[in-house]
Amino acid sequence: MTRSFTLTATAGAARAGVLHTAHGDVPTPAFMPVGTKGTVKGVDPQELRALGASIVLGNAYHLHFRPGEELIAELGGLHAFSAWDGPILADSGGFQVFSLRDTLLESDDDGVTFRSVYDGRAERFTPELAARIQERLGSDIAMCLDICAPAAVSRTDLEQAVRRTTLWAQRQRELPRAPGQLRFAITQGGLDTELRRQSSEELVPLDFDGYAIGGLSVGEARGPMFEATSDAASFLPADKPRYFMGIGDPEGVIEVVSRGVDMFDCVLPTRTARTGSALTWEGRLNLRNARFARDPGPLDDGCTCPACTRFTRAYIRHLVNQEEILGLRLLSLHNLRFLIDLVGRARQAIERGAFESFRADALTRLET
Ligand SMILES: [Zn+2]
Repeated sequence: MTRSFTLTATAGAARAGVLHTAHGDVPTPAFMPVGTKGTVKGVDPQELRALGASIVLGNAYHLHFRPGEELIAELGGLHAFSAWDGPILADSGGFQVFSLRDTLLESDDDGVTFRSVYDGRAERFTPELAARIQERLGSDIAMCLDICAPAAVSRTDLEQAVRRTTLWAQRQRELPRAPGQLRFAITQGGLDTELRRQSSEELVPLDFDGYAIGGLSVGEARGPMFEATSDAASFLPADKPRYFMGIGDPEGVIEVVSRGVDMFDCVLPTRTARTGSALTWEGRLNLRNARFARDPGPLDDGCTCPACTRFTRAYIRHLVNQEEILGLRLLSLHNLRFLIDLVGRARQAIERGAFESFRADALTRLET
């Protein structure tokens, strides 16, 4: 079996490496833009490539309901359907099922029943269906269906989530895959160190291609979340990639990289763009603010994205205020570029053995 991951450098707990997939290599740490419905909102795949994105996310929950994995398979799979020929990670839909709490009807050892957010009909996901959807999509990485417990859930419910996540991972381990498809398991346990250890000890012997740290960034405080990340990463094998599900703010990204995380995803860059804000080395800028009305500078000094090289803050502010689509697109391009660039710099710092000074400097600048 070919290796899915090569570790190339470490600095403390931080790691640089390369994830090997059927559609190409991904340098890590890697930020993965989220294409929930088969598109990173407002961004053409060619633009994504030019921004430096090396892998994108799709979502089994949304693509299962609209337009359906069989239709996508008939049209050549998600790569061909969405015109992105690079690596794709498809999430299993577990997060959507369990985070949209008011749609959850019932879960048991076999699967979970919930109301579809599209038409309110009762639907059922099982580990087998989640694996089948991802096989039909043809993603390079498939995620196990897991139970994502929200923050502040009872210890009994957290134990149940860990137990069932293991049970489901065991069932998914040997199910059919798309050609070359990797499969990652997801550890659970919330902020509870012992449960997190138990979850990892149950999943690691099953020898998945990688491991995600799930059940964090679900409403808990940041300090305990980062402590739990350190614990969770320490329980995982050094020679497999580690994926923190759902973090994408610049400070958070640096913090999880410093704790040994290799991959992460978040809708934050494009969602922030849709609220009219830019991620910059001066912190987050709300372009609606009147102080930008006559600002002839770029969104962020030194940024080489299409927005910063050609347009002024004043013009983008005008577009945002008039709700022009171009304004949201330019902010999306810039915010994605900012995060991809930030993570690229973190990677270089790890390789140079200068990650600690990079981290301290970056956090100081971002918090100003
Ligand atoms: Zn820019």
